[in-house]
Amino acid sequence: MTAPKSPPAAPPPDLRNLPRTDRLLEAAARAGLVARIGHGAVVEGIRAALDGHRQAILAGRPCPSPDAIERDVLARLEEAARGSLRPVVNATGVVIHTNLGRAPLSSAAIDAMRRAAEGYTNLEYDLEAGERGDRYGHAEAPLCRLTGAEAAVVVNNNASAVMLALAALMDAPPARGPDAAPALAPPDGLPEVVVSRGQLVEIGGGFRIPDVLRRSGAALVEVGTTNRTYLRDYEAAVGPRTRILLAVHRSNFRLSGFVHDTPLEELVELGRRRGLWVVDDLGSGTLLPTRPFGLGDEPTVQERVRAGADLVCFSGDKLLGAPQAGILAGRREAVLRVKRHPLMRALRVDKVTLAGLLATLAHYERGEAIRAIPVWRAIAATPEELRARAEAWRAALGDAGARCAVLPGRSAVGGGSLPEVTVPTFVLALPAGAPDALLARLRRGAPPVVGRIEEDRVVLDPRTVMPGEDDALVHAVRAALAT
Ligand SMILES: *Cc1c(COP(=O)(O)O)cnc(C)c1O
Repeated sequence: MTAPKSPPAAPPPDLRNLPRTDRLLEAAARAGLVARIGHGAVVEGIRAALDGHRQAILAGRPCPSPDAIERDVLARLEEAARGSLRPVVNATGVVIHTNLGRAPLSSAAIDAMRRAAEGYTNLEYDLEAGERGDRYGHAEAPLCRLTGAEAAVVVNNNASAVMLALAALMDAPPARGPDAAPALAPPDGLPEVVVSRGQLVEIGGGFRIPDVLRRSGAALVEVGTTNRTYLRDYEAAVGPRTRILLAVHRSNFRLSGFVHDTPLEELVELGRRRGLWVVDDLGSGTLLPTRPFGLGDEPTVQERVRAGADLVCFSGDKLLGAPQAGILAGRREAVLRVKRHPLMRALRVDKVTLAGLLATLAHYERGEAIRAIPVWRAIAATPEELRARAEAWRAALGDAGARCAVLPGRSAVGGGSLPEVTVPTFVLALPAGAPDALLARLRRGAPPVVGRIEEDRVVLDPRTVMPGEDDALVHAVRAALAT
């Protein structure tokens, strides 16, 4: 048998036309890119681009001309020069959009953050006494006034608030005064946290209550079923090692039909009777009632505090509309334990966040939250206002606008709050045809515009477009439609 003839050798790939790094570096310097992003980033960008071209050529594609490669490299470096983290126009209508950075801040909050960032502050300095002061004292008084809590403390985010609450309270039962239930027998084994099976949620970004519990050194005791958990289920699970009854708000999904959740008041009563802490992970946490805005009944922080939870944990940057933070509000003894826990130091807030949070809380105290806080302004925007804005965009788009339509739609609140709840809006629907490509062009625009697709058309919802962004949005849409 003769060996099969080997196929004729492929022609050698043409790598000769690839420009040299020096030449591209010079071109980048001439374009001011070295000055703008630095030599290291330019060289890295050139190498990555050349590598991409080399791979493509080895895979059989023809080598572009040196000039074409240079143009491509410079375009990529220009893109890098725009920075990694940039402002985008949120035209999704999702008010609290976790991927887009959640709550935009009020101008007063931004001013306060700027002032705090610019120089020094009395963050931990008592100006009366001229000695070390209390970082956590600044936000406590307004938080107590607004929530009705005895005490409050602020940490990095709500995930840390929950972790800290569990870690700080699992060591010892509450001392509830003279008529308190006797302390439970000293535990042998892990302290236990009791939680309903229907509330073992993942909040997104991998924050899962069972994992958090395990990490805080507690054993999880699941009670009830996915859809129904009664007080008697909790009661039956309480043993000598039980320390905490945990309620978790089902922020990002909704159970409907044959459902029973044990009211917080009943958990509080059981906690009192058996000497247990009651912790409420409220998630978004709103200080304003949501029903007037057509959003159904989110529990308010005040209601949960009034129900008697030892600690209510909620986010700063969801419906509160403040910078990223986690707030623990509740009974003095519980908050004191949190403040004294060693993890507190690792999870504390910085002066800039604190300044923004205080300025945001001041809006609530002055009764101007709906007007001043962007999240609430967006929620409160009426369909008529939204229709007028969408119409104004359409008019400003000129000829391109003639191919667009202003249509009724729905906006979501999102961000792990108010699952499935939407409110009526009006959207600008862009011309039909290849919506994915159009959405991508909008994302790559300057500024990037993030929209969504509905019935095969790209739609842009004015609800979440900030007041000063209309011109930029129109400009970006015109550019995306022109190509
Ligand atoms: C959002 C949310 C969290 C996490 O809060 P972060 O502020 O994102 O850390 C925890 N629990 C619930 C119920 C939530 O909705």
